[in-house]
Amino acid sequence: MKIPNGQQIIEEFEKWSPKFLAMEGDPIGLHVGTLNKKVERVLVTLDVNEHVVDEAIEKGAGLIIAHHPPIYRPMKNLQTDFPQGRMIEKLIKHDIAVYAAHTNLDVAKGGVNDLLADALGLAETKVLVPTYEAELVKIAVFVPESHEEQVREALGKAGAGAIGDYEFCSYTLSGTGRFRPTEAADPYIGKAGKMEVTAESKIEVVIRKYEKDRAIRAMIAAHPYEEVAYDVFTLENKEEAMGLGRVGTLPADMSLEEFAELVKERLDVPAARVVGDLAKRVRKVAVLGGDGNKYIQAAKRSGADVYVTGDLYFHVAQDAEAMDLAVVDPGHHVEKIMIQGVVDHMSNRQNWQCEFLPSEVDTEPFRFK
Ligand SMILES: [Zn+2]
Repeated sequence: MKIPNGQQIIEEFEKWSPKFLAMEGDPIGLHVGTLNKKVERVLVTLDVNEHVVDEAIEKGAGLIIAHHPPIYRPMKNLQTDFPQGRMIEKLIKHDIAVYAAHTNLDVAKGGVNDLLADALGLAETKVLVPTYEAELVKIAVFVPESHEEQVREALGKAGAGAIGDYEFCSYTLSGTGRFRPTEAADPYIGKAGKMEVTAESKIEVVIRKYEKDRAIRAMIAAHPYEEVAYDVFTLENKEEAMGLGRVGTLPADMSLEEFAELVKERLDVPAARVVGDLAKRVRKVAVLGGDGNKYIQAAKRSGADVYVTGDLYFHVAQDAEAMDLAVVDPGHHVEKIMIQGVVDHMSNRQNWQCEFLPSEVDTEPFRFK
């Protein structure tokens, strides 16, 4: 097994959580150091502070993947008398890179919001605030029957044929391929100057446009022919939009009070602020990790009985009360759910020697008394 470099790790990560899913102006990506080095251990954390950096040093991590960007506002200086400067100094001295995946990881399928919705046991979840609609293309490739399986596999692995909750979807038709190799050719089948007739299959797959180039490269690598015949079609169909937050239903209705208890237990917090009548029955739930004040109207419009989000403002809480939308605010720190989520997603994805370690530092600044 080979030790990957940082760039390879991030390439793999961005197949799941691509940068273009981030909200405009969100400072995601590499924040400190370089990805151009071997990385054997990656520390995954919600936040980067000095304790997390110490943990990375102790555990021998060469890369930190964080949800919250450590350099959020433009820096005017880098003084090492202050915590942020000290932290960056320490990172550089120990050759530790920091990469941030923020709103792109919120939006990504299986990202922060899906993890929260799953933890709450929501079913039939949909996106609460659509932010991105992927364009789709169809790839059709002609392949000798002997290599059908190999080509389908390569396409599927590159993300082709992912439709809703299904993957590796494809359609195969049998037919006849004809070609005549010229003198310059080095044909897999046939001889130069002689017309060749061979049984071929046409494999069709749908893929998101942004993933197409990678899939085509993988398909060509798996294909036996010197010149691969394939078509790429633009489709009018659109994939279901991706976005922030989720809305789904609980297995059964319950009182708001019971639901608040469920939130505390499932999201592992000692307390939650609740807006609304504690006896109100709730079943449809909207959830948005982090600060979801801005999306309270969207939560109401989605038909949710209750909205779970963090950092709720006093006046927004009053607005929610006025529109009869219950809110459960378990705090911003519930996004720590991404730590295990990223570790699970990234571990053993490639046959390489690299460990993904969950940070054990508690970055919750609040204590509940
Ligand atoms: Zn956050």
